[in-house]
Amino acid sequence: VASEKATAIILRVVDFSETSCVVTLFTREFGKLRGLAKGARRLKGPFESALDLLALCRIVFLPRSGDALDLLTEAKLERRFRPCKGSLASLSAGYYIAELLTELTDHNDPHERLFDLADRTLIQLARGGPVPVLVLRFELLSLGILGHLPSLEQCVECGATVPNTGRGRSEEGLTIVRDRQTHPTSQNAKERRLPFALLEGGVLCRACRPGKRRVVSVSNQTIDVLRQFARTDSDTWHRLPSSAVTSGELRAVMNQYLNHLVGKRLRMHAYL
Ligand SMILES: [Zn+2]
Repeated sequence: VASEKATAIILRVVDFSETSCVVTLFTREFGKLRGLAKGARRLKGPFESALDLLALCRIVFLPRSGDALDLLTEAKLERRFRPCKGSLASLSAGYYIAELLTELTDHNDPHERLFDLADRTLIQLARGGPVPVLVLRFELLSLGILGHLPSLEQCVECGATVPNTGRGRSEEGLTIVRDRQTHPTSQNAKERRLPFALLEGGVLCRACRPGKRRVVSVSNQTIDVLRQFARTDSDTWHRLPSSAVTSGELRAVMNQYLNHLVGKRLRMHAYL
């Protein structure tokens, strides 16, 4: 078998023996891989301590068929992940990205756009970018790339357009967010809520709501923020106040939706 080269982000390193590790990597060319790195725990060798969590590496490996681990033969460090000023939030967000890549992708199923998104997000985290914004952006764009984006505009059951605050202009969503900061109580009273089905993955129209299990009630404002972040071509989310992104409701919806999707509780949610 010929060896292959790839660019990879290190997702997980587990000691295997006194000298070897089992490494989980997300590669741009081959998707997720698990490889045995013989001699990786020695300081000198073909890996030169490049196998660091979230590091970007150029790797060489021997693919194995079936369930056998691939054999990692070389790793060259391109960039180590250093959280901005040692920030715990930035580090946790990095770990969370590794967890999402591990749980949401399959072995040998490449997604170049997802790799580039992860790479870019790690760079932005290291430079001190706004953590809640970068996390939500990564979550929604990766869900979009992998075909798991919740249905936010149409009823997930029948496809009917679910009306929201306005007539489809994204600016109106932004206005609501700003108003709410200055007049929290008056806006709260008027705030509409939409049913969001966790299992089906999206909003429901009034007709489809009855009888559905695992439905949460989500404010218009949160749905608006999600809609704006989910649009790959939109940059309006840059202008959203950070309070809109850090709202407890928004985190709760994303956490519950992702937990349902992967079928277990994601570990890093507790640290976000
Ligand atoms: Zn419907």
